[in-house]
Parts: sequence; C-alpha cells; structure tokens
Amino acid sequence: MAITIPPLKRSDFLTGQPLVDGSEVYGDATYAVTNPATRETLANVASLGATQTHRAIESNSRAFIDWRKRPAQERAGLLHDWLTLVRHYRQDLGLLITAEQGKPLAEALGEVDYAASFIQWFAEEARRVYGEVIPASANRRIVLIRQPIGVVGAITPWNFPAAMITRKVAPALAAGCTITLKPSEFTPLTAFALAKLALEAGIPPGVFNVVCGDAPAIGSTLTSHPYVTKFTFTGSTAVGKLLTAQCATTLKRVSMELGGNAPLLVFDDADLEPAVEGAVASKFRNTGQTCVCANRILVQSGIHDRFVEALAARVSAFQVGNGLEGATDQGPLIAASALAKVRDHVADAVAQGAHLVTGGKRHEAGELFFQPTVLTEANPTMRLADEETFGPVAPVFRFETEAEALALANATRSGLAAYAFTRDIDRAWRVVEGLETGMVGLNNGIVSTETAPFGGIKESGLGREGSRHGIQEFLEMKTISLGVR
Ligand code: ADP
Repeated sequence: MAITIPPLKRSDFLTGQPLVDGSEVYGDATYAVTNPATRETLANVASLGATQTHRAIESNSRAFIDWRKRPAQERAGLLHDWLTLVRHYRQDLGLLITAEQGKPLAEALGEVDYAASFIQWFAEEARRVYGEVIPASANRRIVLIRQPIGVVGAITPWNFPAAMITRKVAPALAAGCTITLKPSEFTPLTAFALAKLALEAGIPPGVFNVVCGDAPAIGSTLTSHPYVTKFTFTGSTAVGKLLTAQCATTLKRVSMELGGNAPLLVFDDADLEPAVEGAVASKFRNTGQTCVCANRILVQSGIHDRFVEALAARVSAFQVGNGLEGATDQGPLIAASALAKVRDHVADAVAQGAHLVTGGKRHEAGELFFQPTVLTEANPTMRLADEETFGPVAPVFRFETEAEALALANATRSGLAAYAFTRDIDRAWRVVEGLETGMVGLNNGIVSTETAPFGGIKESGLGREGSRHGIQEFLEMKTISLGVR
C-alpha cells in the first residue's frame, strides 16, 4: 500500500477506526479510503451498520446521565482541553484533510483553524445557557430553564472533514448532549482523529461516538431510534429531505444544512478588484466544492467585459495539483461522479450557447482534476443555472437592471448564500433585503465564521449553526409555572 503523505506526529491517525464508547470498533467488513489526488489507498477502515449504530446510541444514552449533570464550567473546561489538542496536532489534521479530501494544504490548515474556532466558541457558550423569569400574575411566576435535548445523531459531508464535525459536536457537547456522528465515507480519518483527541482530552467515553460504513443503514438507525431526540445533517438536499422524512416517525428535532445555488451579483457601480477577489474566494474555495460557493455569477452589462477579463486572468493563473505538493491553489474533485457532473454542466452550457473563456476540460494533473473554468453568456435554461455544479466552473450571466438581477438570483428553490457587490448604499439595502437566502456577503466573498449564524432558507435547510444561536439547536425549553402565595 503506497501512502504518499509526509510522516505524521501521530501515525495512529492513519490507522484510525470508528470509535464507540471509548473503544475502536471493527465490523465484519472494511473499505478503502483513498487520496483523490493520487487515487492511492490511504487506509482500510471498518465498515459498520445498524448493529454498531444501535450500540453507539445506547452508549450515548448511558453517558448522557452523567454528562448532562456536569456543571457547564466543567464541560467548558473539557472542550478547551480538546481545543488545545486539536491545535497541537494542527499540522497532522491538515495533512489528513488534504490526503483524504484533496484541498490544498494551506486551505486544509485553514480548515483546522476554522474547526478549532467552533470548539473554542462553544466552550465559551457552554457557560451562557441562560433561563428567563417571566412575570405572569399576582399569584403566579413563570420560570424558563434550558436543558440539553438528549442524544444527538449527526451526519456530515466530505467537503469539510473537520469543520462540519466541530460545528455540530462542539455545541452539542457544550449544551450537555451526547452524540453519534457518521462522517462521510470519503473522509472518516479526520473524524476518527478528532474523536480520539476528544477522548484524550478527558471527554468521557460514550459522549462522542463515530460510526461509519453503510450510510443508509446507519442513517436509518440514527433517524428512527427512539433514544435519539435530535438529528443534525449537512449534505445534499435530496438526502436531507429523505432523512427529515425518516425523522418524522419519531418526531425528532431536525437541523438541516443543505445544498445552495448561490448567486453573486456584480453591479456597474461595484469596485472591480474586490468584486473579482470576492468571486474568486467564493467560487474557487475548495475547488468549488462548498455549499456557499457562488454557482451563478450575475454581472451588469456596464462592468461585464472588464470583470470577465480580470476574473479569467486570475483563474487561468491558478496552480492545479496535489494539495500536498508545492503552492497549489486548486486540488482534485472528490470522485469520478463529481468530475462527470462538472464536465456535463460545461458541455450542456456550451451546447446552449455559452462561450468558454478559459478552462473547460479535464486537467492533466490527474484523473479527478478539472481545469478552472470561466464561461460567459450563461442563461437560465442551462443545467448549471438550476443545479449546484460543485466544481471549479464560474458561469457569468449578463444582466441589465437591478430588478432583472434579483429575479434571476431568486429563481431557485435553494436559499443558502448570496453575494452582492455595489458601492451604492440604497441599492445595497434593496438587494440585501430582496435576496431570498439565509446569508448575504455584501462586498465580501466569505460568509462563514463561527461568530455568525450559518444556514439557509427555502430548500437549503432548517436551523442555524455557529454563533450564540447555534447552541439553541441542542437545548429544550422547560416552562415552570410557580404558584406564589
Ligand atoms: P454530497 O453530495 O455532499 O456527497 P450527500 O448528501 O450524498 O452529499 O452526503 C452527505 C452525507 O450524507 C455523507 O455522510 C453520506 O454518507 C450521507 N448519506 C448519503 N446518503 C445517505 C442515506 N441514504 N442515508 C444516510 N446518510 C446518507
């Protein structure tokens, strides 16, 4: 087995396995985790199913009895200890992320910092779970307390192998919940390493379990088991809808972070350079594989040609290659099906009249690499207008008026993120208020930070993650009606 990854301080991170109740778990079968840049096998990991997931949930349920009673300060301290270990092994975690997911190492290290920021934030928020006293009547007072919701089931995707995990696990643990997580089968090693570090930090066995393998079997157990009271998912809209339906029979509280189809609007009065940099930051982060990546770039006709020229110059200068080697800007796509979708979107657009400014083909760096691409003359009948491309393709749509841009931007069932570039403050407000999304980047291509609520409207999801609101997803309110004589 050839593993071309630099030596890790913790070589055991490369042989990690699912972790339940403080112990590694082995199933009847294993499967290979591969490096998408080289297609080499990185590790063989246990493939688990419903039986082990039942055990994981039962161990969560036992661990909950003690964990929920720990003073918030103690839980906060343990989260801080976990944070210290995550920071200590930053380089190892970054290398693991690049090896199993493909993003350039600098981006992977940025992801470790982003993942750590959620642990820090929610370690702090653990101590700020306040109740309320509500005036009722002369002989009655109402007191509201907030308590952990219980055992949590979580499923996360491959595009942020660390951050999507800590964004769920840290607030759950801070609130006093216990959790069983199923990471993506593409990227389990980072998840196993994070769970191991949590255990080493002193977070008790059974508080944070990781299972992985047969996604539908694990998913249907997590969404139907009566002990699980909260289910949280990040992934595609289709799978999110299926899992939400599965949760209905036991009426679990559900959070969903689903797909987007982000528009990025550039008005004639925008400053060119920040608009181009914002488009690059939003579109090409993680090689276009994030749910907040600009999927449609809408540019007003007065600035259109200058914008396209500057964007194409930036994009054609990207270094494409293995994220572990040199100063790479763009890595591989995650799988052959992802590459096929990107190729099909480009072919469909070109067949319908789009003009290829740069890129458009598979890249010679390897089987799963695609050339960073800019297209113009995109229109709403093309597949890339309606579906998330999830790859390094920037389609530019031309528009004339603000009303036309807003109508185009909102012509989708998705409503996660949008971006707008303008110097006109009146227009900025009109556009921000008119965009049907949960988040707007105004003169800014980045919306993600642990301090701000992250989430979508329409078919992009339910609930919010991060910020002071994120912990509420893991808390129940209890009303106490107090008689006063
Ligand atoms: P993506 O397109 O980002 O891979 P998916 O929604 O397919 O999005 O995957 C996100 C997560 O959902 C992954 O952990 C994957 O294993 C899981 N998943 C996919 N299908 C199912 C399913 N039927 N039941 C449970 N989990 C699933």
